[in-house]
Amino acid sequence: MGYEMTIGLETHVELSTKTKIFCSCTTEFGGDPNTHCCPVCIGLPGSLPKLNRAVVEYAVKAGLATNCEIGYTSKMDRKNYVYPDLSKAYQISQLDYPLCKNGHMTLSDGQTIRLNRIHIEEDAGKLVHSGNDTNVDYNRGGVPLIEIVTEPDFHSAQQVREYLENLRLIMKTLDVSDCKMQEGSMRCDVNISIRRTGDKKLGTRTEIKNMNSLSFISKAIESEYNRQVDALECGEQIIQETRRFNESTGETESMRGKEDSNDYRYFGDPDLPIVYISPEEVEQLRASMPELPDQKQVRYMREYGLSDGDSMQIIRYTKLALYYEKMVDVSGAPKLAANLLITQLFRVLEDEEAKENASLPIPAEYIGEVLKLVNEGKISNNFIKKILDEMLEKQKPFAELFKISDFSMADESETESFVDAAIAESAAAVQDYLAGKEKAIFAIIGKVMKASKGKADAKTVEEMIIKKIKN
Ligand SMILES: [Zn+2]
Repeated sequence: MGYEMTIGLETHVELSTKTKIFCSCTTEFGGDPNTHCCPVCIGLPGSLPKLNRAVVEYAVKAGLATNCEIGYTSKMDRKNYVYPDLSKAYQISQLDYPLCKNGHMTLSDGQTIRLNRIHIEEDAGKLVHSGNDTNVDYNRGGVPLIEIVTEPDFHSAQQVREYLENLRLIMKTLDVSDCKMQEGSMRCDVNISIRRTGDKKLGTRTEIKNMNSLSFISKAIESEYNRQVDALECGEQIIQETRRFNESTGETESMRGKEDSNDYRYFGDPDLPIVYISPEEVEQLRASMPELPDQKQVRYMREYGLSDGDSMQIIRYTKLALYYEKMVDVSGAPKLAANLLITQLFRVLEDEEAKENASLPIPAEYIGEVLKLVNEGKISNNFIKKILDEMLEKQKPFAELFKISDFSMADESETESFVDAAIAESAAAVQDYLAGKEKAIFAIIGKVMKASKGKADAKTVEEMIIKKIKN
């Protein structure tokens, strides 16, 4: 009997405001322990929080970009729990009136993921273990977060991955977060349950907490799915609980029983007033937003004539997309530029970080100039790789390295003389071709390309050979 998996996600994204959510301490990552703190963010008696307006604006942008309704009136609540990384013994969050709600995102397979809500809250500090000691660093305490909560609409690890990649790209495009998963500025709790195919009721869910790597998230989902299937097959019950992913075993393990929101004794924070944002302010924020990834993809397909696969590969990297657009501006050749980016420049930009930073040693204009010459038929397409490799190595523009005549295309009469010479030397290949072995023609084309040092156009050469030997 088959099983269906159902997954809901809670994603925490640290906002890149300069200062914390309720005080003016820096949000910078790292620093000596407990140096980015003040009485407010560690909750000393007598200190009072004051909401950083930029946090509201960043979160509203995140909500607009994920098709949420914005709550013009929202409220801050205390979520009470005791843990050493939380010196106040409560976290300020939002319970019943979140800033954004009812959003959605559509995945490439057509599945719509509903976003229940996006609320703002403060991050906790961090426990640092060394030997038998555990120390606490409150630098991260009070850094603003948004928590993005989906409905249980995912049915595979692949869908989860695509959603998180899209979400990260949106947040980075909006410049509201750097979403560096390895530094914990984007992390994810995964709620997962299984049910027998055809069952209406969802199975009991478990929650895997605090994961900050896409590959671990995929592995954790897979391992938790297998664990739950095995348990049900053995006639066991799934227990509602919080689990963690053990990176060394590749399996999930139990942490504690699952709490629900009643356990936190939420109540409205008496130190903070209601949060208002007017419809006019929301519209101003909407107008200030940059082009979003899906809008950009549509534009690349419509304006530049790219396929959806090619445009997707380019828009995944914000800075690289800008680089691409500059190449297009200079060359007027969007398809040539996309082809060169995907086949040649991706080879140079070896890892994801290099692609994200578009760390190429030459400006886009240099390559754009070469593509313009190709597009105008002044130099042959066959030399692009050679020219590019030389420019990347010497870091100089085309004009300082080469002459156009080095790479100009052979004209018709030049091509014809190369073709005549090659045919004269290829009696056997000509006979084979005439006897029906069509592939024999490649040997003759090869001779022409070699003799012309790549300046002849392969397609023209092929047509010319066929015409000549058939007559
Ligand atoms: Zn502070």
